[in-house]
Amino acid sequence: MRRTLCAAITLVASLAGVLVPAAPAQAAGVLSGKIVGIDPGHNGRNYTSPSFMSKQIWNGREWEDCDTTGTQTNGGYAEHAFNWAVANYLAQKLRAAGATVVWTRSSDTGIGPCVDQRARLLNHDHANISIDIHADGGPSGGRGFAVLLPVADGPNDRVIKASVRFGGYLRSRMIGMAGMPVSTYDGTNGLAYRKDLAGLNLTTEPKVLIECGNMRNSTDAKLLTSKTWQLKAAAAMASAITKMLVG
Ligand SMILES: [Zn+2]
Repeated sequence: MRRTLCAAITLVASLAGVLVPAAPAQAAGVLSGKIVGIDPGHNGRNYTSPSFMSKQIWNGREWEDCDTTGTQTNGGYAEHAFNWAVANYLAQKLRAAGATVVWTRSSDTGIGPCVDQRARLLNHDHANISIDIHADGGPSGGRGFAVLLPVADGPNDRVIKASVRFGGYLRSRMIGMAGMPVSTYDGTNGLAYRKDLAGLNLTTEPKVLIECGNMRNSTDAKLLTSKTWQLKAAAAMASAITKMLVG
């Protein structure tokens, strides 16, 4: 009997250990009524259509290619798959906090859309804030993340200040929550102003693009290919977005 009781107590204790979740980064409902745009960079079958990828689009300042295939680790883990995984983890966290999530693509097995269309989709869906998720293919000796920030060019004029603030929050959380160092080769102290990206030039809601790390660096690649780290990166993004939307 005693033994059974002990076993029962042990079971309850172990169940409690399993079932009681860690305190969520975002309280349930805190993002109710908020719309968050997520743009997972590239797409899984972009490589199958070079002609579509080279289609010229207006990025707000100049003509450029529709998109690229993205990069990959030396081990062959593709950037589009990384972007898609982190985007889904981020969406789960945002939805758990009550947000509506709008997307630029609905799977990781398609082609496109082009980068200008991605910006328009999130604008059209009235996102309160958006994030473009990428990982870089930099020099193999370079490490770290960079948050790319918009420069005023007309369509995005009213969201520059908020985007820069968002970038600062994201930068501090990528260091503190995800443990990724700032880039050793891109931008200054983890931040880079960019005039050449449709996603930032054409946005009408606060937005940044994050290069989460360097897929061509072996130390970064270990993190970028790890689900545990991907969840940390998503948590860092969710925290920065929540800070922007509700303080
Ligand atoms: Zn990319």
